[in-house]
Amino acid sequence: LFAGPVDFVKGVVAMSGLPPADRLEVCFAGRSNVGKSSLINALTGRKALARASNTPGRTQEINFFALGESHYLVDLPGYGYANAPLAVVQKWQALLKQYLSGRQTLRRAFVLVDARHGIKTVDEEIMSLLDASAVTFQCVLTKTDKINAADRDRVLDQVRAKLAPHPAAYPELILTSSEKSEGLATLRATIATLE
Ligand code: GDP
Repeated sequence: LFAGPVDFVKGVVAMSGLPPADRLEVCFAGRSNVGKSSLINALTGRKALARASNTPGRTQEINFFALGESHYLVDLPGYGYANAPLAVVQKWQALLKQYLSGRQTLRRAFVLVDARHGIKTVDEEIMSLLDASAVTFQCVLTKTDKINAADRDRVLDQVRAKLAPHPAAYPELILTSSEKSEGLATLRATIATLE
């Protein structure tokens, strides 16, 4: 699945712009700066693949990438920007809600969580939205190279406790470091085995 070309398909700002739901889909969500672009780039082996989604003006788009001809990898807009105007936040929340609740081919959402910080309130809001949309989500811890084992275990406990009440949460966590290429094979395999 990740051996072939990974092409940017399009950035979407409205439901009318979604590509046809003709293949399996996974999406990536996370607070701004969580390491989402780095992870998507590391995962796909393309250095600048997800950079488009971080350039000004594109941050509110849902970006579609094709994994071969069988899957879409979807980069959702980062959330939790400190200075985002309310109108912008509301617009993207509305689009996100429509996308999550209406996408038949969406098999899993990966919610990225910084391994140093654990789950924050904004993450829980997304998780509740995923619950309501009945989209199974799995937490991916990022930047694990930045913490020691004791701190990591403490955060893992927090994350597990916070996930427990969420019906759509998939219990298994994936620990990653884009920097050290850790957890990437697990994440790729997880995506490849979804049906
Ligand atoms: P995004 O806003 O979620 O797309 O985050 P980015 O991918 O742009 O990463 C935010 C910052 O974290 C950048 O300075 C990255 O270099 C850094 N970063 C991302 N992933 C890792 C990682 O696995 N390890 C370390 N040490 N830094 C990372």
